[in-house]
Amino acid sequence: MEPLGLYLHVPFCVDRCTYCSFATTRDRSLQPDTVRRLLLEIIEWGTALGRPTVDTLYLGGGTPSLLSPEELADLTGAVRESFDVSPLVEATFEANPGTVDLAWLRQARDLGWDRISLGVQALDDGLLARLGRIHGTRQALESLELAEGAGFHRRSADLMVGIPGQSLSKVIEDARTLAATGIEHLSIYLLDLDKACPLRAEIDAGRLALPTEDEVADVFEALQVELPLLGLAPYEISNFARSGAESIHNTRYWKRRPYLGLGPSAASQLGDFRWTETGIIPAWTGGRGEVDFQELQPVEILGEIPLLGLRLHRGVDWEAFRRQADTLDLRPVCDAWETRLRVLEKEGLAAWEGDRVRLSARGMLVSNGILGMFI
Ligand code: SF4
Repeated sequence: MEPLGLYLHVPFCVDRCTYCSFATTRDRSLQPDTVRRLLLEIIEWGTALGRPTVDTLYLGGGTPSLLSPEELADLTGAVRESFDVSPLVEATFEANPGTVDLAWLRQARDLGWDRISLGVQALDDGLLARLGRIHGTRQALESLELAEGAGFHRRSADLMVGIPGQSLSKVIEDARTLAATGIEHLSIYLLDLDKACPLRAEIDAGRLALPTEDEVADVFEALQVELPLLGLAPYEISNFARSGAESIHNTRYWKRRPYLGLGPSAASQLGDFRWTETGIIPAWTGGRGEVDFQELQPVEILGEIPLLGLRLHRGVDWEAFRRQADTLDLRPVCDAWETRLRVLEKEGLAAWEGDRVRLSARGMLVSNGILGMFI
C-alpha cells in the first residue's frame, strides 16, 4: 500500500472566531475524553490496516497547541507505535498565536514535529479584533520568533484576504512583514463566511461590508507579483513557498494520494472510498457519530485528477491522465475535457507545455468557474 498521510483533528479553541465554521468548540471540558478517543482511534486504525507506513503527519484544528505536553506526547507516541513512520518526511502542527510558549514548542520539536503552521491571518490589531482572534499583531510575530528559537526551521503562516476594512496595500505590507521573518511558506485564504457565523450577521445587517470580487481579484493578482519578489513562489492557487518548501502533506490532497483523518469532522480517502467523521464533537468522542461514507465512481475519480491537480502551478500530466482514462474506460470524457482546455488556452486561461496542462495566472483567478467542469 502507498504510504498514507495521517491527519489528526484537535477541535478545541480558546474562543470562537467571528468567521469560523470549523468543527471546533471552546468547551475544554471535552478535551480529555476527545484525546482518549483519538488515542483509541490511532491504535485501532493502525491495527486494522496492519501498521501501515505514513510519510506525512498533520495535527490540525481547532488549535492543536492547546494540547497539554502530556497529551501531545501521548498522541505522538501512539502514532509511532501504531503506524510505521520510518518514511516520514514531514510532521506539521497548527498553532495559534497566544497559545504557544517556548517550552511547549521545544517539546513538540523534541517529539519529532518539524513544521509549524501559524494562524496569523492579519497584522493589524483592528482587523484581528474584527475576526475575533485572541491575539494581536505583536503576539503573532513573537510566536513566529519563538518557533524559530525552538528549532522550527520549517515555518508557515496563514494570511487572510477579504476582511471587511482590509486594504490592498495592507495585505501587501503584511505579506512583506511575514516574508521578512524568514518563513518558508505562506498560505493566503479568502475569507469565506458561513451563513451562521457572527461576522456574516454583521455584514447582513449592513454594519460591515465585504470587498467586491474585483477588489479581491486585485489583491490576489498583486500577491502573485509581490510574493515571488520576496522569495515565496506560488505553487498552488492559495499557497506560496521558498524553493523546496512546499507543504508535502497538503500537496498529497491535490495529487489524490491516500490519507487517513481521525477526529471530529476529519476526512479520509483510501482507494475508491472517502468518508467524513461527524463534526458533532460529543457524538464523535462518544463513538456515536454518523460517518458520511462515499464510494467514488470511476468518472468522479477521473474528474478529481484535473479538479485538484490544476490547482497546482505545475498542472497535470495529461498523457498519464489519458492512460488513466483508458484504464477506466472513460477516454471520451477525457477527450471532451481536453477540447475545453484547448479552448481555454486560446482564451489565455490555460497553457499546454508538452504533455502537461496548467492554468495561467489569469486562469487561477477564475479557477472556480474552470474547475467546475470536472465535477
Ligand atoms: S482559531 Fe481557527 S478553528 Fe479556532 S475558532 Fe478561530 S478560525 Fe475557528
